[in-house]
Amino acid sequence: MSDRACISGCVRTGEHYAACADYGRADGECTGCVPLEARDGAMVCSRCYGRLRRHLEDTPALIEHIRSSIGQAAAKRYGHERTTGSRQPRTAPMDVSAVDASRDIMAAIYAPSTTADASPAAWRAHAQDGIARILADYDAIANDADAFPQWWAIVMPHEIPGHDDYWTISRALNRWPLADRRRRANKPCPDCELLDVHIIPPRQARAPTWYACNQCTWEANEHDHDGLWAALFEGTDQ
Ligand SMILES: [Zn+2]
Ligand SMILES: [Zn+2]
Ligand SMILES: [Zn+2]
Repeated sequence: MSDRACISGCVRTGEHYAACADYGRADGECTGCVPLEARDGAMVCSRCYGRLRRHLEDTPALIEHIRSSIGQAAAKRYGHERTTGSRQPRTAPMDVSAVDASRDIMAAIYAPSTTADASPAAWRAHAQDGIARILADYDAIANDADAFPQWWAIVMPHEIPGHDDYWTISRALNRWPLADRRRRANKPCPDCELLDVHIIPPRQARAPTWYACNQCTWEANEHDHDGLWAALFEGTDQ
């Protein structure tokens, strides 16, 4: 176990230093002040490592979903025109935000450019090319005190101060949610011992399954600790 603290400033929920005014009480203002240790080989904790990585892994499916929403808007528009026959065809309002979001995200992940009329599946394939390169470097990014916060900043917040129009991946996932594939495990969290761990299957081939506690900061994937967590949680979902 590394003794470095997560550079994102994460703390262990409910754990306090003896010097903390809320040491020994559960109803204080401080929700925790003991830093969360960084993951082995990374500058950040497993939770930060996993959350950013999963957002990146979700990106190709997200891009396809966003581009499909544009297609559906167009289909509805044509249907409407057929039923109201005599009316002059109008230029239907394009979902500008979907166009903007797909453009911002593709640029952020250095995906090869594609044409506006390409199919959602083609967009997804291009996004996959961009993401594959980032994921190949992901462990290096997570161990880089400059690169990790930079990636975090364009992926994880819903807004970038001063760039309100910018579509971060989180903002787009919020606007065009993907199906939630998490399942609840029926074994307790190894850290807080509460029964609130979720099994999060990967959306990418060869990406790991994650196990994440909703009650504390504990998070690990199927490869961590030589597969210990996979052995513990496998087949325990309800
Ligand atoms: Zn405290
Ligand atoms: Zn962290
Ligand atoms: Zn927990």
